[in-house]
Amino acid sequence: MTKRVVLIGHPVAHSLSGAMQQAAFDDQGIDATYELWDRPPIGLADAVAELRTDEFLGANVTIPHKERMVPLVDRLTEEAHATGAVNTITKEGKRLVGHNTDVPGFRVALDKLVGKQKMPRHAVVLGAGGGARAVVFGLITEGFQRVIVFNRHLHRAEALVKHFGRSASHMELRAMPWHESIIESELAKTKVLVNATSIGLARDETPVPGELIPPELLVLDLIYKRTRFLREAEAAGCTVLDGELMLLHQGAAAFTLWTGKPAPLELMQKKLHEARAGGLSSAEGEPTGAASAAAAPAAEPTSPATASEGEPTGAAAPD
Ligand code: NDP
Repeated sequence: MTKRVVLIGHPVAHSLSGAMQQAAFDDQGIDATYELWDRPPIGLADAVAELRTDEFLGANVTIPHKERMVPLVDRLTEEAHATGAVNTITKEGKRLVGHNTDVPGFRVALDKLVGKQKMPRHAVVLGAGGGARAVVFGLITEGFQRVIVFNRHLHRAEALVKHFGRSASHMELRAMPWHESIIESELAKTKVLVNATSIGLARDETPVPGELIPPELLVLDLIYKRTRFLREAEAAGCTVLDGELMLLHQGAAAFTLWTGKPAPLELMQKKLHEARAGGLSSAEGEPTGAASAAAAPAAEPTSPATASEGEPTGAAAPD
C-alpha cells in the first residue's frame, strides 16, 4: 500500500516541502506520497484523528499549529517536550509521536552563521510562536548566556520564557514588549538577531526598520527568501542567512524519522532550489520570488566581507 505523509498547516499552498520530500521518497525507493493539508485550527483535531489510520506514515506540522499539536499526540520526544512545539509526527502503530526537527535544523543554521566565532553569546529573538520555541531552545542548549524575546503579544513571549524556566535557569532569558526604542536598545547589546515572526512571509515588510539594526550583527531570518529584513540588515553591514538551511535540515531529519533511512541531502537541496526558482512557496508558506530564488545559491551567510572576497553571496540575490 502506498503510504501517505502530510504537511498540516494554514496556509500550505505550493509548499516546497512537497518537492523536497517526494523526490527523497522516490530516490530511496519508498512507496509514499507527500500531500499538503490546509487545515485551519478548527480542523486540526480531525486531521490528527485521520493520521491514526494505517495508510499514514506520519506528518509535518507548520504555521500556525506547532504548539497546538502538543496535546493532540500520544507521546512527545525530548525536544518536542522541551520546546512545547511539534513539527513532525511519526507513528507507533496507531499512536502518534510528536518530534521537533526544527531544533536540529536551527542548530545547523546557527552553526553556519556563528561557527566558532568568539563573541558574547547574546541573542535577540523576534517572535514567540512554534518556530521561535525551537530557536530559543537551540540558543539555550548552544550555551547562549542572554536571550531576549520580543513579541507583538507580550503574553505569548512571557509564556515562552516561563516554559523554558528550568532549562534556562543558568542564563538570562527575558520577554520584552515590542517597542522600537526597547528593541533598538537591546540590539545595541546583542550579537545575534533572529526573525522568527512571519512578518515578511506574504508581504515585503520587516519586523525591524533597518535604521535600528547596528552593523556587524549576525542575522538569521527563518523565512527563506531574501526578505526586506535581511536586505536592510545586510545594507546595515550585518552578516545574514535566510531560513533555507534550517528548512532543509529539519526536512532531512523528518525524512529519517519516517523512513529509518539517511536523507538524500544533496537531492533535497537541489529540489528546494528548483522549487524556489520556479517561484513556489516554502514549506512554511511564504511565497518566493523567482528572480531572487534563481540567483540564490546554497544557504551561505552573506556579509560585506565575504561578498567582497568573492565567495558565494547566498541570500544576496537580486531583488
Ligand atoms: P506561529 O504562527 O506559531 O507564530 C507566528 C509569529 O509571528 C508569532 O510570534 C506572531 O506574533 C508573529 N506575527 C505574525 N504576524 C505578525 C504581525 N503582523 N506583527 C507582529 N508579529 C506577527 O508560526 P511559526 O512560529 O511556526 O512560524 C513563524 C515563521 O517562522 C514563519 O514565517 C515560518 O515560515 C518560519 N519558520 C521557518 C522554519 C524553517 O525551517 N526555515 C521553521 C519554522 C518556522 P503574535 O504571537 O503576537 O501573533
